[in-house]
Amino acid sequence: MKWQDYIRENVTTAEELREPLRLTQEEYEAIREEIALFPMSVTRYYLSLIDPEDPDDPIRKMAIPAGGVELTDDGILDTSGEASNTKLQGLQHKYQQTVMVLTTPECAMFCRHCFRRRLVGKASKEIVVDMDAVVDYIRAHPQVSNVLLSGGDSLMLTTARIGQWLSKLSELEQLDFIRFGTRTPVTFPQRILSDPELMETLAVYQKKKQIYVVTHFNHPKEITDESRAAVKALQQIGIIVKNQTVLMRGVNDNPVVLGNLLKQISALGIVQHYIFQCRPVKGVKSRFQVPLSEANDIVQAALAMQNGLAKSADFTMSHVTGKIRILGKTGDGNLLFQYKQAKDPRNIGKLFTLPVDPTQTWLPEKI
Ligand code: SF4
Repeated sequence: MKWQDYIRENVTTAEELREPLRLTQEEYEAIREEIALFPMSVTRYYLSLIDPEDPDDPIRKMAIPAGGVELTDDGILDTSGEASNTKLQGLQHKYQQTVMVLTTPECAMFCRHCFRRRLVGKASKEIVVDMDAVVDYIRAHPQVSNVLLSGGDSLMLTTARIGQWLSKLSELEQLDFIRFGTRTPVTFPQRILSDPELMETLAVYQKKKQIYVVTHFNHPKEITDESRAAVKALQQIGIIVKNQTVLMRGVNDNPVVLGNLLKQISALGIVQHYIFQCRPVKGVKSRFQVPLSEANDIVQAALAMQNGLAKSADFTMSHVTGKIRILGKTGDGNLLFQYKQAKDPRNIGKLFTLPVDPTQTWLPEKI
């Protein structure tokens, strides 16, 4: 079966969930309304990981609308200033060394916690149209040393299109590596396991330029035989797989669950990248955000259970001013922060402390 055929079988309507998830009439109606605002698409594989008897199943929370919360939420749709970092259609340049390209609005599954839900599964004017213009932009900015192909999910592009991106980007000597942002190993491992041409394409260009795949495991239930096999297939051709996790209420806001996830990820040879503070996104904020102070305690406890290598995840907030590490609590109970990346390069490395209200989930735009 081709990967496109799997995707055609995705669950996209409330009607299709009624039976398998034993929806009440009330849930059914609310989900229908939410889908009209933010579409739903769930692979049959990811749906099969949900325990239908458990209304609090973490997989269900990431895949299925909340049943009302998404309609009333007061969050925003661009939490890290992406519009202001856009230099060409589909190209963002916030940090000096990194260019990010929005290659597609498509994803195998539309995660309910997605911070780009404004564009996922929709016709969007934010998606790149001109690959050559991207290459010209990079050439004109010699400080750029890497490109992140994102979206949506960059492995939802056709294999031919992925080959075109790699062909052009791998010719650029200034690039140290190319990154693919993709959740397919987690939500749709069949994309990797059922397309030998994709693996051949990646293997060819991996020999020319180091490729990283940055994926997104959030819960130990996502680590299955299929997702393990997809990660291994990438690693076997020399790709470095990294993981970023979003800390979410009701999904992984428990040190044992989060600690178990980090342990299993490192056992798979995946390099820990980020644990992200969940962003104040409309339809996400009130369902998933954990207050900063509590989130810090959960992450620190989960990290304390790890060996040195598995401790390498940075607990970070992707703020409009930059990537801010949340380092821990100071003696007076304030939180200690540090800029890992900053829109204003003078802030890189800067440490600061702030008092944080126990209910506060994000930092103000002006720090
Ligand atoms: S795969 Fe990534 S971009 Fe796509 S919906 Fe999920 S979080 Fe958003």
